[in-house]
Amino acid sequence: MSHAFFTPPEGARFALRNVRAPRCLVRAELAPGDTDLVAVDLLIDAGSIAAIEPAGRLPAALGPDLDASMVLPGMVDCHTHLDKGHIWPRQPNPTGDVPGASRATGQDRVANWNADDVRRRMEFGLATAYAKGVVAIRTHLDSLAPQASISFPVFREVRERWAGRIAMQVSSIAPLDPFMGDEGRQLADIVAESGGRLGAVTRFAKYPDEPMPDELDEALARLMALATERGLDLDLHVDESTDPRSRALIRVAQVASQFGFAGRILCGHCTSLALQTDEFIAATIAACRDAGVDIVSLPTVNMYLQDRTAGARTPRWRGVTVLHEMKAGGLRVAVAGDNCRDPFYAYGDHDMLDTYTQAVKIVHLDHPFGDWIRAATETPAAIMGIEAGVLAAGAAADLILLKARSFSEMLSRAQFDRAVLRSGRAIDTRLPDYRLLDDLMVTSAGSG
Ligand SMILES: [Zn+2]
Repeated sequence: MSHAFFTPPEGARFALRNVRAPRCLVRAELAPGDTDLVAVDLLIDAGSIAAIEPAGRLPAALGPDLDASMVLPGMVDCHTHLDKGHIWPRQPNPTGDVPGASRATGQDRVANWNADDVRRRMEFGLATAYAKGVVAIRTHLDSLAPQASISFPVFREVRERWAGRIAMQVSSIAPLDPFMGDEGRQLADIVAESGGRLGAVTRFAKYPDEPMPDELDEALARLMALATERGLDLDLHVDESTDPRSRALIRVAQVASQFGFAGRILCGHCTSLALQTDEFIAATIAACRDAGVDIVSLPTVNMYLQDRTAGARTPRWRGVTVLHEMKAGGLRVAVAGDNCRDPFYAYGDHDMLDTYTQAVKIVHLDHPFGDWIRAATETPAAIMGIEAGVLAAGAAADLILLKARSFSEMLSRAQFDRAVLRSGRAIDTRLPDYRLLDDLMVTSAGSG
């Protein structure tokens, strides 16, 4: 019933023979080599990968020869906004930039984000991601009161319903202002009750034009104190800006080191770091390494929002952070999907294979491809602290199979006909119909 190019054998024990896997994701004793892909046979048993052998080892009776088709582990999206997803038809962003996105989203949130609205759009996003072969997602939830008390209970219910299909994590997101008072304490409690990460944007709503106000360090320390009291990690939106004055990332790292923050910190975006001097970039990366800061880049959304100006002016920079330098400097770096059909990004389809494919082209993760595919699989899994994103004996047989035989074929043609296996069984890869959300897109103003 699916569109997949291939249907695996029925039954608990079978082989997928003669497939090509990214060498960096395979945990098995294989002949060393310098090719990006390695030829293997996979033995699947009772929902898990039972063995990974060099291609040609497993008998033909066990399963089909896949003629060099690629196999990937299920992919991991460690930075999304499922609560914002798919509101575009009722709330577009006419300016296509960050201030326009914030304004538009705020209007829609106040007008429409009741529990049912948030739940149905989250479910739609998850169903899409699942069909694409995504196995784990962390979502931020807009957390300004009273939204946190609406969205976090919905998240907990949805996480329960999706357990075993998509491993879900949550982080708050709010400007720094509420963390200076009681609202921040209450929010930290809601996050802790939900087993989440304490998250914020490293900006104040009260200083819309000042990226580095005097209170920044105090607010960051306050955030770390709230997290420490509750044993929480942090997940921050940092320097998502075209303004070179925005230099909060190094302050996050420095304050964490001074504070002795014991948790992990994931910092997303960091786009304006790409506008600094090489010396400042190096100092920032060193400070992040010392403080245990991980990085997630959101290339498709950055390219959409950054360096956009009114009128017929062409964007002059890519708007993405210094991912190569960060990885070379020893940081854990991931790429993720971020927004989907909302005022921060008009497009997207919750597809981490597409996110990786676009990241390759936007950030030059090629020539060589090297181990960059880890940034969409193994590394975000490690950042999330979950077992996923590699091909290993004993791991769940959560696999994406592609007709493509090489990175060239995979990155050149949209992989609509992929087969997705979960615990060794093919799932239906048809996507939910946008029409399912049509009734939510009818606004009181009458547009739809
Ligand atoms: Zn985000």
